[in-house]
Amino acid sequence: MFAQVIVDVAHSNVDKIFEYSCPDGLTAGARVKVPFGGRVLDGFVIGVSPASAYPAEKVKSVISVFDEAPALVPECLTLMHTVSERYRVPKAAALRLFLPSEMRLGKVREAFKNFAVFKTADVKLSAGAKKQAQALEYLAQKGEEELPALCGMFGRGAINSLAEKGALEIRKRKISRSPFEGMSGESVQRTLTPSQTAALQSVENSDKQVHLIHGVTGSGKTEIYLNIIDREIKRGKTAIFLVPEISLTPQMLSQLRSRFGGAAAILHSGLSAGERFDEWWRLRSGEAKIAIGARSAVFAPLENIGAVIMDEEHDPSYLSETAPRYSTCDVALMRAKYNGAKLILGSATPSVESYAKAADGEYNLITLTERINKKPLPEIIIADMRKEVRRGNNSAFSKALREELDATLKSGNQAIIFLNRRGYSRTVMCRDCGYVAKCKNCDVTLTYHSEDNCLKCHYCGAKYRMLSACPECGGLHVLYSGTGTQKVVADLKELFPSARILRMDNDTVSGKDGHYKILSKFARKEADILVGTQMIAKGHDFPSVTLVGILDADMSLNFSDYRSGERTFQLITQVSGRSGRADDKGKVVLQTCSPENYILRYAVNYDYNGFFGNEIAIRKATNFPPYSLICRVMVTSDDKDKALEVLKSVYFAIEELRGKYPDEFYFLNKMHSPIKKIQGKMRYQVLIRLKDAKLLEQIYDVAVKNSDNSVFVYVEENPVNLS
Ligand code: ADP
Ligand code: ZN
Repeated sequence: MFAQVIVDVAHSNVDKIFEYSCPDGLTAGARVKVPFGGRVLDGFVIGVSPASAYPAEKVKSVISVFDEAPALVPECLTLMHTVSERYRVPKAAALRLFLPSEMRLGKVREAFKNFAVFKTADVKLSAGAKKQAQALEYLAQKGEEELPALCGMFGRGAINSLAEKGALEIRKRKISRSPFEGMSGESVQRTLTPSQTAALQSVENSDKQVHLIHGVTGSGKTEIYLNIIDREIKRGKTAIFLVPEISLTPQMLSQLRSRFGGAAAILHSGLSAGERFDEWWRLRSGEAKIAIGARSAVFAPLENIGAVIMDEEHDPSYLSETAPRYSTCDVALMRAKYNGAKLILGSATPSVESYAKAADGEYNLITLTERINKKPLPEIIIADMRKEVRRGNNSAFSKALREELDATLKSGNQAIIFLNRRGYSRTVMCRDCGYVAKCKNCDVTLTYHSEDNCLKCHYCGAKYRMLSACPECGGLHVLYSGTGTQKVVADLKELFPSARILRMDNDTVSGKDGHYKILSKFARKEADILVGTQMIAKGHDFPSVTLVGILDADMSLNFSDYRSGERTFQLITQVSGRSGRADDKGKVVLQTCSPENYILRYAVNYDYNGFFGNEIAIRKATNFPPYSLICRVMVTSDDKDKALEVLKSVYFAIEELRGKYPDEFYFLNKMHSPIKKIQGKMRYQVLIRLKDAKLLEQIYDVAVKNSDNSVFVYVEENPVNLS
């Protein structure tokens, strides 16, 4: 037999299919070791055939086969080609998406434990063998026990003797390192509301493949997802449930566990390598049927998928920012098509792109306009920060927010304070000469962190000592400006000394379960106020939260990005949605310096349709997505001269393309990236706005051709981050 093998090296030089002779019985999907140019490499078998096209003496043999079941599901072999062609990455890089990295690198294996299992008490023990008699009695009662524990109780000698006599048997058994082992939520079977029932029916009856559930925050979308999953499982199918960031949703996890028990497997980066490995194999072996996780779980090793669900479909984290730069929605659709499955997108604030497709009838649109039990959406109060300053209030909190906070704390409820900046304050600036502290590697402003009294770069993590004097002019008036999460916490402590405050941002969450711990603590009401960045905006359901403060609603409005209006609307709606989800009415205080802004007006009135109508008209008039495709070709290198040379060559090739197809281009320019340097690498870009995707392949071609070991060139489609 002959095996077609892809070697596990993600480089275009070896991006081919190689043939090896192999033992009978080897199947596609298996992992093997093969000889390759004098080395031994891991490889994936993507097909087997009885004959080879090559002369026998040229074909080498597979060295060994990994003794596990084939790791890759058949679908993945098909998808691998599609992903590799669509995003122009080597096949091995596409295949890697389907395997947990720990497994590829052989860092973890299955975990085994030895158990002593009771066989018979019908054995002869010598009169003095007290320990043996006790052990036998213990085991007869319990049936079995972990071997080390048993030896600990009765001594290894006694256990060995019993084993020799045949009273017990020692068995090696595979164990599952399951995350959140002790976690259990109350399993409530809810009666669905009429809108939830209607939504379920619509998903069932529509002949469209993609369904968009647009439901206001708290309208019970989660319950709909769970019912869809339940239905597919009962049909003997499997399901993938994607959320923007799984570690941020403790309630979701416990709901899933209590509802589906061991049928649900959780895949996310916060798991230990062993846990991830075992959860992955539980899915691959069919023991678990539901994969829950963030972006990468779209590659879960499931067969016979009935539904793929993407909660908070508008979330930017669904776009991969490292190669391959895939869109989760695109991959989810590939999988849905392959399996004849339904793809369900859900959000309170659908992305303009998705909603446009629904409005055009390409997606099945399902709308839920009310919260469960007709609870009102929280009232949003606008605080005009320009007036506050005129009144002499220079603090981060408006009068309205202070009063509402006071009332909330007195009532025993909880509050969430949202702002989009980490750290103590934004920048460190010299008042005498205007010097601003920047990172040496990254050309970005540094942020002061009071916990270790230093300046940090949020792009590369570099730490710098806090300045006592200005390095430029020697002046001693070094100022902080702006407000970060840490500063807000300090100010809150002064205002409300007895309040218990938690902070959640990239600095306070670290390690496995970091998010989970902070959020669980808040959920258990061990704190009164949670201060955080956009991490806290995502999908949480804290019943006692009745106040949300949005400190600087303008922040994201001022980004120079065509999506800034959309992002601001989404953020305000999502963060506001955390308030008043249970019995008590919720409030939101939104602080801004531009209260007349139309995006804020739509947000305050929860007017998604108004927002969408306005936004889509602007996009159409200005030729922005979905009426065009933005492409950024990035050129990065340690070597500035080489990078500039390659940039020129890339630009030249694309300009030539524009010469041929002038109507396809709305915009073309080359420039420094807004952040000129990250981690020592110079960054240049060619920015393109295309009429549609017709020339996309040729643009990828240009990038691939110009990329080499010293200058890296890659393409981003409609990037979420243009820095
Ligand atoms: P969404 O995901 O749309 O923001 P959730 O699914 O979190 O909303 O639901 C909001 C709240 O309503 C949750 O506390 C949930 O437990 C509750 N809920 C959902 N469906 C029902 C129902 N049919 N009956 C009673 N409570 C429900
Ligand atoms: Zn840096």
